[in-house]
Amino acid sequence: MDIPRIFTITESGHRIHNPFTPEKLAQLGEALRLEKGARVLDLGSGSGEMLCTWARDYGIIGTGIDMSLLFTEQARRRAEELGVAHRVRFIHGDAAGFVSDEPVDVAACVGATWIGGGVAGTIELLAKSVRPGGVILVGEPYWRRLPPTEDVARGCLAGAISNFLTLPDLLASFGSLGYDVVEMVLADQDSWDRYEAAQWLTMRRWLDANPDDEMAGEVRARLTSAPVRYATYTREYLGWGVFALMKR
Ligand code: SAH
Repeated sequence: MDIPRIFTITESGHRIHNPFTPEKLAQLGEALRLEKGARVLDLGSGSGEMLCTWARDYGIIGTGIDMSLLFTEQARRRAEELGVAHRVRFIHGDAAGFVSDEPVDVAACVGATWIGGGVAGTIELLAKSVRPGGVILVGEPYWRRLPPTEDVARGCLAGAISNFLTLPDLLASFGSLGYDVVEMVLADQDSWDRYEAAQWLTMRRWLDANPDDEMAGEVRARLTSAPVRYATYTREYLGWGVFALMKR
């Protein structure tokens, strides 16, 4: 079981697989006022940076599940490196339908809401793991500018305009699902650059080291088009944020 290889090539150098910087991740942890010993579940935990740094900085106890073997191994190594391996564990597997044995204080899915079939389904899934009065964290894109055409949405790799909402509509949608939005930390264009532009150097180095790989053509095409595509579309039109929700 694994994710498509293109992601483990383009994002192999990333600790955070989202348009967040380490500073924004720390800001989010601080905003949540996490208490020492708080239990955090993370579906689609990637390379584990959120759980590992929050374990180091705020003393949380975490479980992460991720379908990428490489990212899960990186997460375990990061936990060792930060001296928090006794506080966090990383499971390699499909997080769809995953419910924790014991209720957690914070249940998160940050940038992987397809795991629950979309935002609403993911909130429903996370709600099965969170204790009464606990917090659900959802990381999700939104339109910072509404694309004028479907072509522009596709340029953002969004599929369709209807795949995402504007920020006010996204916040309203959480209310319609019966949740208060109690905190949020948003990406900005500079933090998007850390996610997108960092892939370019990773791709270039991978191409230099693997010229005969079967993926070389696809990676070359991506690297050639990515900077202009990103600057024209994603950087201008797409926002991203992590939203903290509590059941009303
Ligand atoms: N939350 C992490 C990773 C976000 S990227 C971070 O912010 O860094 C999306 C992650 O979802 C990837 O690590 C990918 O491997 C994982 N993923 C995709 N489908 C999944 C599934 N069905 N179950 C678990 N993880 C999944």
